[in-house]
Amino acid sequence: MKYQVYARHNLDKIPNYGKLSQEQIQSIKIVSEVLPFKTNNYVINELIDWDSYQEDPMYILNFPQKEMLKPTPFRTLSEMVENNTSKADLAKYIHELRLNLNPHPDGQMEHNVPSLKGKLLTGIQHKYRETLLFFPTQGQTCHAYCTFCFRWPQFTGLNELKFAMKQPNLVVSYLKENPSITDILITGGDPMVMKTEVLERYIDAFLAAGLPQLKTIRIGTKSLSFWPYRYLTDPDSGDLLDLLRRVNDRGIHVALMAHMNHPRELETDAVKEAILRIRETGTQIRSQSPLLRHINDDPAIWADMWKKQVNLGIIPYYMFVARDTGAQSYFGVSLERSHRIFNDAYQQVSGICRTVRGPSMSAGPGKVRIVGITDVQGEKVFVLEFLQGRNPDWVGKPFFAAFDPEAQWLDDLVPAFGEKEFFYEQEYKKLLKVDKLPGHVLTTENKQYA
Ligand SMILES: *Cc1c(COP(=O)(O)O)cnc(C)c1O
Ligand code: SF4
Repeated sequence: MKYQVYARHNLDKIPNYGKLSQEQIQSIKIVSEVLPFKTNNYVINELIDWDSYQEDPMYILNFPQKEMLKPTPFRTLSEMVENNTSKADLAKYIHELRLNLNPHPDGQMEHNVPSLKGKLLTGIQHKYRETLLFFPTQGQTCHAYCTFCFRWPQFTGLNELKFAMKQPNLVVSYLKENPSITDILITGGDPMVMKTEVLERYIDAFLAAGLPQLKTIRIGTKSLSFWPYRYLTDPDSGDLLDLLRRVNDRGIHVALMAHMNHPRELETDAVKEAILRIRETGTQIRSQSPLLRHINDDPAIWADMWKKQVNLGIIPYYMFVARDTGAQSYFGVSLERSHRIFNDAYQQVSGICRTVRGPSMSAGPGKVRIVGITDVQGEKVFVLEFLQGRNPDWVGKPFFAAFDPEAQWLDDLVPAFGEKEFFYEQEYKKLLKVDKLPGHVLTTENKQYA
């Protein structure tokens, strides 16, 4: 299958363009001035149900919706475009809007980039002791863009490729100095957009370094959902499968961390065949997804998705809370509802699906899971725990936040029982060497977009 990409410039060429209402076309054009938009022929022809596309989760996953911007910016931007506002003024306003969409949640840029001999290693992140994130330069795009993408600033040029790196030798040096790292997580964007020979060069550099500590190479990817032909008909798909097999044969576990938002993504012949071929290489596929309003905020969807995954040999791994960036106001689900949806779904499936953990917030101090909602001495509280912590000692200790039905993120929570701080906060501030925790800074000017 030939990969055909569609974006703003060739929107009118997409199959089914004739089915789009004028209002939808307008929404796509305006919103994609601010947030990234890209789709392809697989998503359009095999995933989207065009008979009811306006409510279709696969359509909403890929095509910008009017409500992804607040009404005022949407109107202002539409008027500016209609009135042929100068390019410079338009760019300035768009930039302003982007800065108001919290493009750098949790200080990702500042706080997780390690250094080697005094030199900052942009292109890797080391937040949790055992796992190093590696962002290869050529893997910093995707086969299509999710409308909720938390890496949207990278795709709109707001912080273009700042994360990325080309030199695997620097990663190897860093690994040698940090023997606690057992896992390399190659991520993006989507590393599976890279040609096999490029991916192979990176992986071979890790293998050639002979690092006894290295046990797992993970690859974070949305390709099973957005382009399963990567494993079937792309010219180098056979080489890709050979590469995966070769790494596994070396005794290094390859884990494909598949990003999947909806059971529909598991239903095409192409994806089923791709999963089969990947599993034949000895690679294990694990799945993770955020919980998203308008796409999958229903326990039946999750239960169905986990069952289908297990049936195809995929291990359910994480359910995330939608991150506090980009179009979160459109996709966000309250923590209370997130917990109920998770639990409802979890109760419907057999133990074999219950490898999944969540709902989890990837926040500054760590991955924080909502364990439950309960009453303690007459106070309604959220019970929370770290699944991953910037300090590994934080993991697994239950802690409590005052119940708040509106809260959507860790920053919205305050400690229960009148306590001043959560147990980790003093140490977290020390670790960051800052006296103020990162989070939303809402001034009167930007409150309208928050
Ligand atoms: C989620 C995450 C990891 C991987 O954590 P696991 O719990 O081992 O899957 C590593 N680094 C960062 C920054 C992460 O957010
Ligand atoms: S696959 Fe991930 S990085 Fe790519 S657009 Fe979707 S959320 Fe963003």
